[in-house]
Amino acid sequence: MTALELDQRYSRQVLFRGIGEEGQRKLSAARIAVVGCGATGSALASLLARAGVGILRIIDRDYVEPSNLHRQSLFDEADAAESLPKAIAAARKIASFNSQITVESQVADLTPSNIESLLDGVQLILDGTDNFETRYLLNDFAVKNSLPWIYTAAVGSYGVTLNVLPGKTACLACIFPNSPRGAIETCETAGILNSAVNLAASIAATEAIKFLVGAEDRLRRTLLSFDVWTNERAEIAADHPRADCRACGERNFLHLAGEGRPRITLCGRNSVQIHERQRPLSFTEMTERLKPHGTVRHNDFVLKFWHEPYEMTLFPDGRAIIKGTTDTAVARSLYARYVGS
Ligand SMILES: [Zn+2]
Repeated sequence: MTALELDQRYSRQVLFRGIGEEGQRKLSAARIAVVGCGATGSALASLLARAGVGILRIIDRDYVEPSNLHRQSLFDEADAAESLPKAIAAARKIASFNSQITVESQVADLTPSNIESLLDGVQLILDGTDNFETRYLLNDFAVKNSLPWIYTAAVGSYGVTLNVLPGKTACLACIFPNSPRGAIETCETAGILNSAVNLAASIAATEAIKFLVGAEDRLRRTLLSFDVWTNERAEIAADHPRADCRACGERNFLHLAGEGRPRITLCGRNSVQIHERQRPLSFTEMTERLKPHGTVRHNDFVLKFWHEPYEMTLFPDGRAIIKGTTDTAVARSLYARYVGS
């Protein structure tokens, strides 16, 4: 494409009065993070990259699988065949439709120990995660640092989103003081409609654009939920922080203090994630070591080891996702046996 043609890229968006040339300039100067690049994160990153947000940091811990393709719009069959990390596959896809912006890929699980460095320098955080643990961590970080973030979630035919402007609106902990326990529906148990995801992400991406162009007075100040199947819709007022909120009021950021040790997390499906202290792995050495015990394959980003009935995926920093069990002790002993203790 010629420079002239590229100048036309945002012409229809600039024509929209709420954005204009000045808004477009603000978008290209913006630096934001999308945490989690599954279905919601894909849709958010895709919309905001096309809209011309200058620097997009994409943080994701997972790799692309065939079951992602019906709803995770940045990925294709080749990404799944290669088991590419989602943050890497997303950056490649975005570069193919907008090479004028910068995508910073981070293949990592956001934790209390790395959140400061992973979110350093961004002016807005978008939630594309799939779990409350990470959302409360994001909320504590955002409220503590007066950084706006947008909560977005979808499951089944239902979607929900909330803008959090610390000090000005309610935060996630104002509305849900405690993490929902017990039976929480997930995409693995309730399924998910791609249209519910895209609607939630479209609303959140629009709110992000309003914030980035300085149209703060246009930002929604409610928790909005909708069901695309039943057509039910609800809004809960969220226009001010609650005085007795643990995060906003008491400034007790317990989720930021939650870690210092290696941690095992269930991914919500038939798998276990193993965090280790930074243990850089050589995939060439690991391949030699694992070959006698099963099938091994690796690219620059992940190593896959099939050892019936388990499938282990290793990342260069030593993190592992073990499929075929939800028993953390089993996963731990497999990891210790084949990777090291
Ligand atoms: Zn609060």
